[in-house]
Amino acid sequence: MLGLAQGCFDATIPYLLDRKQFGSPVYDFQGMQHQIAEASTRLEAGRLLVYNAARLVEGKKDFIKEASMAKHYCAQLAGYITRKCIDWCGGVGISTDLPQEKFFRDAKVGTIYEGTTNIQLNTIAKLVRKQYAKSEE
Ligand SMILES: Cc1cc2nc3c(=O)[nH]c(=O)nc-3n(C[C@H](O)[C@H](O)[C@H](O)COP(=O)(O)OP(=O)(O)OC[C@H]3O[C@@H](n4cnc5c(N)ncnc54)[C@H](O)[C@@H]3O)c2cc1C
Repeated sequence: MLGLAQGCFDATIPYLLDRKQFGSPVYDFQGMQHQIAEASTRLEAGRLLVYNAARLVEGKKDFIKEASMAKHYCAQLAGYITRKCIDWCGGVGISTDLPQEKFFRDAKVGTIYEGTTNIQLNTIAKLVRKQYAKSEE
């Protein structure tokens, strides 16, 4: 889901630099730039969650909570980024002329397969409880 989100973002930014409205690239409007900066920040956060979980696996440390956080966050992220990218492209974004609508459809399953969002949240909450119950002993 992280790769999907990044792929959609990568396919969108060049279009925003190229597409002109009111005499400027759409990218240059501050209202657009703030949204792009927010999306870019969330992408980086998702990447760090995934890399952190992978680091724990490689280090043979407990990783279940962090892996659930990464899966949950990146599934939400893919939905958020693909919706934003479609909005940013305007009418053509929802058409099949650009790839964003396919990224959007593909993103939806991320909250369902490999553990639904609810199940990831159950796992995270269970492990947070365990972590704090231990420290009370
Ligand atoms: C495209 C696709 C590919 C898939 N590929 C595979 C695969 O390769 N291998 C494989 O084994 N499976 C695969 N699946 C199945 C997938 O893992 C399940 O669809 C998923 O785990 C959800 O199970 P379910 O469909 O039975 O939904 P249900 O378990 O019926 O869930 C329905 C709703 O209830 C919620 N829910 C269920 N239990 C709880 C609970 N305890 N607490 C809170 N909420 C709960 C869920 O979050 C969901 O919102 C695939 C599914 C899809 C859509």
